[in-house]
Amino acid sequence: MILILSPNSDPQGGEYRQLTAHLAGLQGIRTRVHTERGTEQTLTEIYLIGDTKALDVDDMQNLPCVERVVRVSEEYRILGRHKDDPRPAHFDYNGVRFGQDTLNVFAGLCAVDNAEHVELMLKALKENGQTCTRMGAYKPRTSPYAFQGHGRNCLPYVFELAGKYGIKVIAMEITHESHLDEIRAALRQTGNPTGVMLQIGTRNTQNFELLKIVGRQQELPVLLKRGFGITLDESLNAAEYLASEGNRNVVFGLRGMKTNMGDPHRNLVDFAHIPVVKRLTRMPVCIDPSHSVGSRNAAPDGILDVMHATAQGVVAGANMVLVDFHPAPLKALVDGPQALLLKELPHFLEDVQIAREAYLRRVALQQRVAA
Ligand code: PEP
Ligand code: MN
Repeated sequence: MILILSPNSDPQGGEYRQLTAHLAGLQGIRTRVHTERGTEQTLTEIYLIGDTKALDVDDMQNLPCVERVVRVSEEYRILGRHKDDPRPAHFDYNGVRFGQDTLNVFAGLCAVDNAEHVELMLKALKENGQTCTRMGAYKPRTSPYAFQGHGRNCLPYVFELAGKYGIKVIAMEITHESHLDEIRAALRQTGNPTGVMLQIGTRNTQNFELLKIVGRQQELPVLLKRGFGITLDESLNAAEYLASEGNRNVVFGLRGMKTNMGDPHRNLVDFAHIPVVKRLTRMPVCIDPSHSVGSRNAAPDGILDVMHATAQGVVAGANMVLVDFHPAPLKALVDGPQALLLKELPHFLEDVQIAREAYLRRVALQQRVAA
């Protein structure tokens, strides 16, 4: 059960103390408090954990400070979408809104290789009106002998160049607690010229200790990739780990499932789960067509499989597209074969726009039919 308190309820105030004293007296119930500090107001939610079945919603509603009570009907307590759940399905970060009704494209380098390529990429994004990108600094690789990413050494120039080209959010994977510290330190040192969305890769979806560490900070939002060999429920629970530790600014990423049934694609594209994730949770849903498809093959219509997969996801209501581009894919140190070319960026963005318009028309049609 979730108690949503009136905005700006004062934890030092008499009413709040009355409330917590009452909750402390409930047998077999633990509480967990979540506070969200916005620019205008502070919102507090109290999660009641344990045997809440016996609690009466109306009784709880009448407790001091309580504005609304939500009975948790689904498994994902914090990120889940429950019956009569008024909590928002969006969050704002560094001036960008991420919601179940918005769409943000994160085109960029799979892995940072050098400052020149970073700058060419960011310049192209700016010229095409983009304010988000992907830039891998820490790369989890299959082979221990493969390039592992430049790590913290590249962060200062990546962040400074991002600021120069008006990038507001960079999706960047981390695989260890120290990477989080390095990113925060580099952002501070460079004067916070941009923002970072921490990415938990598919190989770490169930790295619970990493999830707890990333979840304990609320400064940077998180893109959690679905695990490539586990059930959707297991991946959604992984997202819930982040929220249960305090960070609910989570985007859920679909990136294809590892099975030969998807051949010749690198992974079996799982974008049919976009509406499922939106129904079960309040998380915005990201698609990664590059790691799903994994090549630059094109259909007889001339359209690249990556662009087809992107369109399929966007038509189904995807909220974020994470896609690999590279100024010189033959020289890319990671995943060059699946990278789109900078000259393809305007084409890609226009294609995304067509699919987005189709999605919005489908929503309007549904609303008309339902009315
Ligand atoms: C990536 O986005 O660079 C990546 C490695 O993705 P995934 O974790 O989905 O394989
Ligand atoms: Mn990659």
